[in-house]
Amino acid sequence: MPRPIVASISISALQHNLAVARAHAPNARVWGVLKANGYGHGLERAMRGFAAADGLALVEPDYAVRLRELGWTKPILLLEGFFDADDLPVLARHDIQFAVHCDEQIVMLERFVTDAGFHVHLKMNSGMNRLGFKPEAFHAAHARVSKIASVRSITMMTHFANADDALNPSLPLSEQVRRFQAGTEGLPGPRSLCNSAADLMHGELAHDWVRPGIMLYGGTPGGGSAADFGLRAAMTLESRIIGVQDIVPGEAIGYGSRFVADKPMRVGVVACGYADGYPRHAPTGTPVLVDGVKTGTVGRVSMDMLCVDLTELAGAGVGSRVELWGQQLPIDEVAFAAGTIGYELMCALAPRVAVREVD
Ligand SMILES: *Cc1c(COP(=O)(O)O)cnc(C)c1O
Repeated sequence: MPRPIVASISISALQHNLAVARAHAPNARVWGVLKANGYGHGLERAMRGFAAADGLALVEPDYAVRLRELGWTKPILLLEGFFDADDLPVLARHDIQFAVHCDEQIVMLERFVTDAGFHVHLKMNSGMNRLGFKPEAFHAAHARVSKIASVRSITMMTHFANADDALNPSLPLSEQVRRFQAGTEGLPGPRSLCNSAADLMHGELAHDWVRPGIMLYGGTPGGGSAADFGLRAAMTLESRIIGVQDIVPGEAIGYGSRFVADKPMRVGVVACGYADGYPRHAPTGTPVLVDGVKTGTVGRVSMDMLCVDLTELAGAGVGSRVELWGQQLPIDEVAFAAGTIGYELMCALAPRVAVREVD
């Protein structure tokens, strides 16, 4: 018998969410972002779910090649670009597009002699201060890349630091847009700005390409409700109660004896722990569904198990179904309680968890 923990991945939810992304940006083409193993959903599954996308975007060159081997013929984009000149022949062979965000990459491209043509996504740093050329350096970088014989097209791209929080006083979204417009002024070619947050909340910024990730999996950026956006959870993590303890007041529960009961309690032990991807830092009270009823975790999450409060759930016991997150319990709600984001929970799904595909 396998352990009862299973992650169900819904291909139709991926398809549905892609359609939502498109509806928010009807005139743009859509990159389905499937870095990090499709945000934990599986590369190949995400590829099938996003079959209707105009392209697939990720950061892992080996996974990009894998997509070609799996039969993806539409565009593929490496969002961090290439890492080494040795990557270029492989990218040429498989017609993989890439970001160019620094002078070192330009030098490698200039030195690489090939008959192949590259589609470059020239990246601007519009305030995130992670990757990209500053607005005032963008024209020069564009001119230099334009002269490289192998470069067939240049898309201008930026990535927002906080599109879910447009009025952020440290860096308003409007300021990032202003910098992008100033830095690209007069330059020909397509533009690519929006991640999920911008796609969902600022469709007017969509331009030629959008790059949604988290929303395609049914999570939201910045804590909004996925259901309010019409998104469906693609991943449901469920397990079962495998043990029950009746606790008298004064008894402690779990490692470190951090939780001490102040009343009689019934506690269920769930076959799910941090080695399955459940966050160890989730505090007592993190929401969980038992037989569809919301209750909370109790005490520390351990490697293979966590405890839940069954005191008010008289009918629950060994064998009861537990949903850790998914269709009935939004992953964003669990993430918020645990002080993290849905992205991290999805990506952390451990290889030992059995995956079941559902429609
Ligand atoms: C990950 C990523 C995205 C997708 O972001 P979401 O918040 O998941 O929608 C878009 N663009 C770039 C450059 C990224 O790295």
